[in-house]
Amino acid sequence: MVAMNIINLYENFNYYFSAEYKAIFERVSKVASKSKHKLYLIGGGVRDMLLGIKSLDIDITVEGDAIEFARILEREGYAKILNVHKDFGTVKVEIDGEKIDFASTRSEIYPKKGHLPHVKNIGCSLEEDVLRRDFTVNSLALSLNQDNFADLIDYVGGFDDLKDKKIRILHDKSFIDDPTRIIRALKYATRLGFELEENTLMLQKEYLRSVNYDMCNKRVKNEIKKTFDEPSSNAFEKFIDQGIYKLVTLKEVKKPHANIENLFAKYNPKHPWLVYLGLIGVFENDDFCDKLELTKIEKGIILCAKGLLEKEFKDDFELYKAFCNQKIETLLILAVLGKEKQVSHYLDNFSKIKLHVTGDDLVKLGFSPSKAFADGFDYVLREKLQNSQIKKAQELKLIKYYLTNL
Ligand code: ATP
Repeated sequence: MVAMNIINLYENFNYYFSAEYKAIFERVSKVASKSKHKLYLIGGGVRDMLLGIKSLDIDITVEGDAIEFARILEREGYAKILNVHKDFGTVKVEIDGEKIDFASTRSEIYPKKGHLPHVKNIGCSLEEDVLRRDFTVNSLALSLNQDNFADLIDYVGGFDDLKDKKIRILHDKSFIDDPTRIIRALKYATRLGFELEENTLMLQKEYLRSVNYDMCNKRVKNEIKKTFDEPSSNAFEKFIDQGIYKLVTLKEVKKPHANIENLFAKYNPKHPWLVYLGLIGVFENDDFCDKLELTKIEKGIILCAKGLLEKEFKDDFELYKAFCNQKIETLLILAVLGKEKQVSHYLDNFSKIKLHVTGDDLVKLGFSPSKAFADGFDYVLREKLQNSQIKKAQELKLIKYYLTNL
């Protein structure tokens, strides 16, 4: 039995949560008291409440059967069940317009290291449920029970680690069981401004010295996505400096010279994580993308950058032709990897340039469709790259001139 610290955090709870959420918690607490279920707010919600920062999601753990409890809530007219995962003992419900996840306490084992755990014991004790988690700061529980409402239940020293700004794993085999926790640690360290605790950092280094590549790469991808889609300036630096990149490649990765933050601020890519991943992926074989189970579009972004990396551009026309159909993420990968001048030149001066004249316009002018149309469009485009003010009427004049003087 792990030693447990209990303090009451009603004041924090009262200050942090909105009136709507407090009403929901109080209502489910009353129902739980009648039905003899034990409920706890757990994970990121408790951590963020203590840090006073906005939380991304609210998870409630039911010591016992969450699905059974959700059915009681629904029967009494308090909640609508949205979906149920029987294998994991989890259920999503809607209460007063808010979506809340209820999970049965469960323990997990990792029969195949690096892969999804097997659920072992649904309905186990809260303590066992806590011990399956990744870091101490994510393992805090806040009681929603009538007899000890807002008591903080801390089996693993998460409260002290929050105060000390430390990310600490719960046991020495944690990264071996699930190496994606290394990326999760990076995510929390950068998001919260925390450091890895000494032993955690040492075990991370040890794991990265001999990575077991038989792992669930899709989970690696998902953690990379969550980590690098958050605005954080130094996550990628740590990803390289600490050798975390070794989870996805056997090759050495060097720190890029370009200022990625500035490029992101200026050009605002929708998926920053793909730019970061692309900086590694362009030097890999094509199966890199398949191994990580990237979608067709995600893969395309990286492979297009790979194809353009060694390409030289004779003039603006060639540059425009190569870049005009690329996604911004592809262009930013190229920018970071040495083509910043060309990419900025294209994005700042040419990316909005489009021809207005169409094949239909030419047919209306009496020309018969032919391969010459494409050359004509290129002729107009070359002119337009020198003078972006050219309007449709002038485009028509130019292409007419070109086609009649062939
Ligand atoms: P947040 O960033 O707000 O913590 P998240 O989406 O990263 O949210 P989830 O992935 O929803 O967190 O996980 C919720 C909780 O489940 C975590 O707080 C943690 O306790 C536990 N957890 C998640 N992933 C793992 C993992 N790989 N190993 C062990 N525990 C995990």
